[in-house]
Amino acid sequence: MKRRLFLASATAVSGVAIGSTVAAAPGFASHLGTSWAPLKGGRRLSDAGIAARLRLFGPENVDPRTGAFPQERVITSWLSNSSFAVAVGGRLVYLDTFISRLEVERGRTPLVIADLIDARPDAILLGHGHGDHADNAAYIAAMTGATIYASEETCAVLAADFARLKADPLVNADQKTRIPADAVLRTVPVTSADSVPGTEMIRLDVLEPYAQVVAFRHLHSVAVPQDPQYPPPRTEILVDPRDAALFPSGTSLTPGSSPQPGQMNLRTGGGSGGTVSIYFHITLRHGSNFSFGWQNTAGALKEGIGNGWSGTPEDGERIRGRLASLPQTDLHLATASTANYTNNGLRDLIHYQSVLHPRIFVPNHLTSGTRTREGCSLAVYAGYLEQMDLMEVPDADRPHVRWVIDPVDYLQPLAFDTDDDTWRDKSKKDRIKALDRIKLGRPRAVKAFVGKQRMTAGEHTHSCEV
Ligand SMILES: [Zn+2]
Ligand SMILES: [Zn+2]
Repeated sequence: MKRRLFLASATAVSGVAIGSTVAAAPGFASHLGTSWAPLKGGRRLSDAGIAARLRLFGPENVDPRTGAFPQERVITSWLSNSSFAVAVGGRLVYLDTFISRLEVERGRTPLVIADLIDARPDAILLGHGHGDHADNAAYIAAMTGATIYASEETCAVLAADFARLKADPLVNADQKTRIPADAVLRTVPVTSADSVPGTEMIRLDVLEPYAQVVAFRHLHSVAVPQDPQYPPPRTEILVDPRDAALFPSGTSLTPGSSPQPGQMNLRTGGGSGGTVSIYFHITLRHGSNFSFGWQNTAGALKEGIGNGWSGTPEDGERIRGRLASLPQTDLHLATASTANYTNNGLRDLIHYQSVLHPRIFVPNHLTSGTRTREGCSLAVYAGYLEQMDLMEVPDADRPHVRWVIDPVDYLQPLAFDTDDDTWRDKSKKDRIKALDRIKLGRPRAVKAFVGKQRMTAGEHTHSCEV
């Protein structure tokens, strides 16, 4: 072991990081001796940008003078539901852009849309196009120049979102919120329209040369009949009854029939391609090849069926094969939603994990969904533990669980030391090499939309499926 590390739970006083003396799991980053990664393209952040990054990642993970991130650290910060901000290799990437209870002012969710824009993301990865994932994406990208990586179906919807936003009087009502006249929406289709899950695997240049990113279509969550082999948990989904009184509603960002000052509709139009779901896997090319996967839904691998995909077990097998080809997963950011909770929801998550064998599991999709809502995270945790018992997952095969509970775990960064020996795995280099044989997607696929795209039908219909 190179060095034993401390959990990144430091506080900063007058810009000086103070070390915690609480011993932490190996692999979590120390803030001691930080070297800062240069900002992309010599970019300079505004004071508001630095403040936004400090809000997202904490004073121990951001250079207070420049807004730069540490060189040898991957940092994740939960933004609500399945959305994360991730700092990797000095870049800022958003995984999904939907925010639960997004309001005009910071409230129970301690961020506003301006924070996500001011922080200047380099890229946005969208796991699928439903509103509880892709809301806000077109606007953030238009305002920042970030490139969006999503299915071809979702890219088309985002182009329509962009056109609508450019013409929206509420967006144009304020100089600060108006989309600049020369703004361009950059989207990269990760999978081609109507592709068969698992057949197309693409390598993305989003974090090159620092990290390898591969992606492929998998399955959206769906209800299938109860599995006699793996019964669902009996744990009830309970919402904390104190929540409504503790966290009264503010003014929603999305306007109703009489818009209030500051309100704008940044929701995506949705559409039939919204269920097309992408699995993303990111592996660092240096240090200990720290590797993490993110999925914002989990379909029925056993049956090969997902919402929008009436497949066969063969489809599930193909996806398992893709998952098995990935470098060892150190961190799995994955859906523990209660969609289909009473039949196969958590079974399906555990089936993904039975292939990936993640070292650390951080759940997502905990604050919106068919059954999930704010204040029910602990119940899902209990259900997840029960489901593993019901499936008789041996202790040795269970990930180290870093559960998150809203709202206290919003914007609480997890920082991983990418040089730590904990992440070393002999097979990683071979897997990286094998995946490098997949062609790099972006040069062929990038599409840019300028401000005169025609709007398409159905753009105001908001989809909130899970
Ligand atoms: Zn969802
Ligand atoms: Zn969905």
